[in-house]
Amino acid sequence: MKEISVKTSSFESRIFIGGNSLERIPALTKTQKNFVITDENIYALYPDLFEKYFSNTPVFVMKAGEENKNIQTLSAILDKMLESGLNRTSRVFSIGGGVVGDVAGLSASLFMRGISLVQIPTTLLSQIDSSVGGKTAVNHGGVKNSIGSFYQPSEVLIAPAFLKTLPARELKCGIGELVKYAALDSEIFHSLLKNQDTLKTLDLAYFTHLISACVELKAQVVAGDEKENGERKSLNIGHTTGHAIELAFGLSHGESVLYGMAFETMIAIHKGVCERAYGERLLAIIKRALRIEPVAQPNLKAVETFAKKAKSDKKNVNSEEIVMAVARAEGKWTLLSLPYEEYEQELRFAIEQFSL
Ligand code: ADP
Ligand code: ZN
Repeated sequence: MKEISVKTSSFESRIFIGGNSLERIPALTKTQKNFVITDENIYALYPDLFEKYFSNTPVFVMKAGEENKNIQTLSAILDKMLESGLNRTSRVFSIGGGVVGDVAGLSASLFMRGISLVQIPTTLLSQIDSSVGGKTAVNHGGVKNSIGSFYQPSEVLIAPAFLKTLPARELKCGIGELVKYAALDSEIFHSLLKNQDTLKTLDLAYFTHLISACVELKAQVVAGDEKENGERKSLNIGHTTGHAIELAFGLSHGESVLYGMAFETMIAIHKGVCERAYGERLLAIIKRALRIEPVAQPNLKAVETFAKKAKSDKKNVNSEEIVMAVARAEGKWTLLSLPYEEYEQELRFAIEQFSL
């Protein structure tokens, strides 16, 4: 089991990665009232886990899916926490993917002005990304993550074996974020470049190694910039165009980010911001990931249908200037800002040149 810690002046999160990370649970449930939040799929797939570690603990089982990451679910969770007699010393365990982690994190941050939180992520995306760093939220008013807080978990317990039951589409979703880390970290870049096809099959030892490398990088970035004023923006590589594609075509987040990263890398090469030889190697990694099944087939040639959606990206200073976090050279990134008209033109050019 590997331990990584994220430390700032105001908090410390301990992250445990490996087959036996769940063995920390008994020590964490010993002395106070606890509460578990999970979703219906995890609850049905892992009855032994709840039996073994949480037999006397109230469990809130939410419906799965992004559409349930809302204020109604949050409110129902807070009601059940009150009914269960939790107090300021209680601890919340979140067991699930990013959806459960986001709403459970927000619940823990609000209850009695904040109680202890342990994240147990079960998807690749949540294991390498969303469980670390303390972003919590629900969607509201048609805007994704519009109500939320920064609230750090005291511990994150990552058991890669959860991935064995993860559907292929969800695994690919996490691979989108994995490739994002390749653009920020030399070791991950070379590992994905060298191990051509390893992502297609779930080799748990290899995935455990990659998860550790991603978490280590994310921990460093978050420790230096908890509230996303600078370096943490690097974690949005590919996301400006990716979010636009996700919104317009309803593709999974990970697949959208892979397309976004491909086009933004091509734009960065074309603008002379990204070294060509490096950018082309990164593109090869992205395309290989995009070819993993199941492959979505959005009509990306209809640029005007989705480019406009990039105008509402949070990184923009105003809606006529599109800001992207792009790869620049091995392990290096930068912000690239283009007037909207030019962004759309560059995007069209990139998509015309693109083939999988
Ligand atoms: P993300 O982490 O990508 O935000 P979600 O929390 O929406 O993902 O989870 C995606 C889907 O995968 C949900 O339907 C969830 O119930 C399911 N899921 C999560 N973890 C597992 C797992 N280990 N095995 C099987 N299904 C899982
Ligand atoms: Zn993302």
